[in-house]
Amino acid sequence: MKKILVTFLAFLFLLPCFSAQNPRWVGQPIYVYIPEYGYMSDLMQQAFEAWENTSKKLVRFKFVSKPTNANIVVEFVDFVANCNDAGAVGCTEMMSKKGNYYKAFITIGTKEYFRAYEGGQYVRKIVTRPKEHIYGVMLHEAGHAIGLGHSTLPKSIMYPYDLDSMQYLTDEDMRLLYNKYH
Ligand SMILES: [Zn+2]
Repeated sequence: MKKILVTFLAFLFLLPCFSAQNPRWVGQPIYVYIPEYGYMSDLMQQAFEAWENTSKKLVRFKFVSKPTNANIVVEFVDFVANCNDAGAVGCTEMMSKKGNYYKAFITIGTKEYFRAYEGGQYVRKIVTRPKEHIYGVMLHEAGHAIGLGHSTLPKSIMYPYDLDSMQYLTDEDMRLLYNKYH
């Protein structure tokens, strides 16, 4: 019992330290590498441009042709693995040093299961996600890569559910961004 209490107290003391740090990207534009992957590449670039344009360049990105030169590296896979949430379509890993980000990795799962009726029976097929099933996820993961956490408000792209139906950034997203980079 004593051990549990000590662990809990340590956690309580650590929490304010982490939030006070408020890690962010210093120096803009943030360099982004997006590999060639059909229409997925264009959509991912549009997601970053949406953050830049909607925020009136509070965050800025430059797209580079080599991952070694990039701050944010995007990878496209069929299905995301090794993420905290087993059902995740996208995953973002942030690396920080002395309270500032220096590298981020975004993984986007480009495939989904589709139930088709063929030859008198239902068959499960694997198909490429259409734009309306992946763009919201890309906006969300780009938000993580900027350094934003999850929101509890469904009207935010950083709300971690129902991303299939989200296609744009909202005032709430700009509020989250402003709180981090003002
Ligand atoms: Zn998320």
